[in-house]
Amino acid sequence: MIISFDIDNTLIPYSNEFEVEDKKFLSKILGAESIRKGTINLFNELEKRGHTIWIYTTSFRSIFNLKKTFKSYGLNPSRIINERINQKKLKNLNCKASKNPKIFGIDIHIDDSKGVEIEGIRYGFKTIVLDTNDKNWVTNIISKIDAIEMNLG
Ligand SMILES: [Mg+2]
Repeated sequence: MIISFDIDNTLIPYSNEFEVEDKKFLSKILGAESIRKGTINLFNELEKRGHTIWIYTTSFRSIFNLKKTFKSYGLNPSRIINERINQKKLKNLNCKASKNPKIFGIDIHIDDSKGVEIEGIRYGFKTIVLDTNDKNWVTNIISKIDAIEMNLG
């Protein structure tokens, strides 16, 4: 399945909402942003299970900078959708949602926003809404994805 992740307050904290991965030398040199502790493990586990990982954010960060951040932790999301790409697509399809993973072909979108969860119900896309304080977020996401996959199969 194609699984997308939100950025702000999901994988990258606004300030110190959650623990972050240790910054490697390369991350420091490249000026990469800090990412949530467990992200490396989670992405690797999902890829091992045959899933494809995308980033889907309403942030205007450039694709280049987002790629750089993930790359510096050894991660290579297959596709990155930022707000510029998102707005263009939503506008073309006259969609009023803030995000619509379905129109990009995403199977499950992971986000901290309850608003996105509500849009998911309205527009018919699947979300997993993440609690910022969830220390077991990696395990919880994997079991939710497994459950969704079993229902689909
Ligand atoms: Mg967010």
